[in-house]
Amino acid sequence: MTKSGEFSFIAKLARDLAAPGASLSLGDDGAVITQKDMHGKGALVAVADMAQAGVHALSDVSAADLARKALRMNLSDLAAMGAVPAYYLQTISWPHDHDAAAQDDLVRGLAQDQKAFGIALIGGDTIAGPGPLCVSITALGWANEGITRRHGMQVGDDVWLSGTTGDGFLGLQVAEGQLDFLPADAQAVLARHYHFPEPRVRLGPLLAPHVNAMIDISDGVLADAGHLCADADSGLVLCPDAMPLSDAARLWVQGQEDEYAARLSLMGGGDDYELLFTAPVEKRKTIKQLACDAQTPVTRIGTACEGVGLFIRDAAGQVVGVNAAGFTHF
Ligand SMILES: [Mg+2]
Repeated sequence: MTKSGEFSFIAKLARDLAAPGASLSLGDDGAVITQKDMHGKGALVAVADMAQAGVHALSDVSAADLARKALRMNLSDLAAMGAVPAYYLQTISWPHDHDAAAQDDLVRGLAQDQKAFGIALIGGDTIAGPGPLCVSITALGWANEGITRRHGMQVGDDVWLSGTTGDGFLGLQVAEGQLDFLPADAQAVLARHYHFPEPRVRLGPLLAPHVNAMIDISDGVLADAGHLCADADSGLVLCPDAMPLSDAARLWVQGQEDEYAARLSLMGGGDDYELLFTAPVEKRKTIKQLACDAQTPVTRIGTACEGVGLFIRDAAGQVVGVNAAGFTHF
């Protein structure tokens, strides 16, 4: 990127994406968040996530789509902490051969997501290099009703999951052309979930005062449930038969030889960006009401139990241990 190209890109960001006030119009060396922004209460939660072409998306992904996915990954982490989105910083490494149209698309795409999720840009950095397109985002949010953490699960807690499971995992396979046997509309639903996950920004903060532990599902239900167990004195039993599936995922499951094994494989796949949380049994009514308020479905998928580690109820109804490796980068 030439120097002038870099500054014209920053000007586009400042014009369409910069937060009024805190960003200082992206014209200074840093952003400023004052006590006034915090409304005098709560805590500031900071999260960071990076998305790279070929790792978090296909290698020919557009900058706009990759940036939106990176932003949504961050928003999902904020939701898991019970925080309401406020600001983000974005660092982007463009390939040398990108053009101005790609910049315009990125600004347009992020403007759409900023509006949808109530967040605005306050800074970052932009470079061009020989490597793949890469977008790193640091997002900030306000936790006014308390924060939620991975530890804190209690024996007897219900285990809940927002939305559906496995759509992102199947969406990647659609994007790679592996599920052509599914109807076109089912493929479109799955691919959309993979490219543009729906962070649960409304539900997370509403749940914060009522749940004992919460995490967002990025590496697979089994892997992330395993993280809740690792930080608790109790174990978890999950019921594959209870996992909520989209109509598209259900179609896929019904087409598999072993439906139980198919459900289990969806629990091992990444890119859900749903919330997994545990809460006392007496909170059931409250949680259902909050889910209704947030217009986000929630499903009970298991129970926190005595013992250590992650278990599932197998096809014969027996409780058995499960390998919770999930996706890891290395
Ligand atoms: Mg996370």
